Amino acid sequence: MSVYSPEVEKDLDENYNTQKILEKSRKPWEGKRMTLNEYQEESAKTANFHGCMAHLDGYGIKTYVDSKLEAITYCSLGLTGEAGEVADNVKKLFRDDHAKLTPDRTDKLRAEIGDVLWYVANLSKALGFSLEEVATYNLLKLKNRYEK
Ligand SMILES: [Mg+2]
Repeated sequence: MSVYSPEVEKDLDENYNTQKILEKSRKPWEGKRMTLNEYQEESAKTANFHGCMAHLDGYGIKTYVDSKLEAITYCSLGLTGEAGEVADNVKKLFRDDHAKLTPDRTDKLRAEIGDVLWYVANLSKALGFSLEEVATYNLLKLKNRYEK
């Protein structure tokens, strides 16, 4: 026999179901795989910064920045901003979470790392590099450094 009223019991039931749904959909990306270049192409489809650096000159004439320079600038600034958000979460790991890496903090760090990746992918694209080219070049550079 429940100690709750039928209304509360129904709420509990609905919340329990909601919780189950949330748990099921908590990691919808699990099992999905893609290459770095596939990620780069997909992330480029979500880029909506084109034209954002256009500005009005003293005569009210709209001036557009070269689209390649705009992408390089926008993505570089965004990258530093998102790197700051990663660092901010690490700060909060100590300030708010008392140096305990909680699931919530881990989720937030994953989200910010993803934001960093988005800017890295789109900055690379603006410069004409595939993400796999950047990754491969980086590993070769590091291997050469440590093999000396
Ligand atoms: Mg972010």
